Amino acid sequence: MTPTDSPSAESTPVASRPVASEPVEPGADRPGTSEPGASAAVIELTDVRKIYRSGLFEVAALRGVSLSIQEGEYVAITGPSGSGKSTLMHILGCLDVPTSGLYRLAGEDVGGMSEDQLAEVRNRRIGFVFQQFNLLPSMTAWRNVELPLCYAGGPRSERRQRAVDALADVGLADRVEHRPAELSGGQQQRVAVARALVTNPSLILADEPTGNLDSASTEDVLGLFRRLHDVGRTIVLITHEAEVAAAADRVLQVRDGVVTADSGPAARTARSARKVRA
Ligand code: ADP
Ligand code: MG
Repeated sequence: MTPTDSPSAESTPVASRPVASEPVEPGADRPGTSEPGASAAVIELTDVRKIYRSGLFEVAALRGVSLSIQEGEYVAITGPSGSGKSTLMHILGCLDVPTSGLYRLAGEDVGGMSEDQLAEVRNRRIGFVFQQFNLLPSMTAWRNVELPLCYAGGPRSERRQRAVDALADVGLADRVEHRPAELSGGQQQRVAVARALVTNPSLILADEPTGNLDSASTEDVLGLFRRLHDVGRTIVLITHEAEVAAAADRVLQVRDGVVTADSGPAARTARSARKVRA
């Protein structure tokens, strides 16, 4: 799908190509499929459990979660406070590992990995968006977006170009030299989304991304996620707000460490069709 096919593309252009155009490798034209023969499931959890132990106490934060998220899905994970959302987010984001069970991210078994390997997988596979935008205040927008590329190295001019392209993809082509304080909350979160996109990750993992935004900026960021989804990005959005969760095509409810409801991948087609007709 090209940006012009998208219902609301005129307000924020999102390129249909991956942001990271270099280096070109087989499958690099589709996010998350850089390995030949990789499965189309970006996330596969099988009976994942997480037990926190502190002193004499044990808390079973996840009590057997199995789920599969395919490439290109837009999924919200929602549930009340204490239900296990953050724990699940940390596991999905390779910031923590399950106590038991299996997690495959883009076909790779994450369970047995060392800290260094997890850090490498995080950098390569996942673009994070947080509630507090986590931008460095002294750096311009493009320098903030460039940061994840600095860890991987590569020529300076190419890093700048990729950062500028990612900012254009989130509708901020005219703000590349602005510092965070010179941008609205919604624009700062868009810079953070550009930073998440710039490495061309398999998965965009957003943890309460609208939690610090007013309703207009919330609409703005949710509109951006919608357009990213329309060009094939895989998005997992964690939120306790039902209205925000409703922006996704599939909603998973978590309660007491288990998934209690899953609207299912099939909901996507019906909703997309409704949107196109609208
Ligand atoms: P949510 O993000 O949905 O509010 P969490 O995943 O943060 O839920 O927490 C799930 C449960 O695990 C809660 O009962 C919480 O108190 C507990 N928990 C979370 N993190 C820790 C930790 N590091 N040590 C001990 N218990 C924890
Ligand atoms: Mg939480």
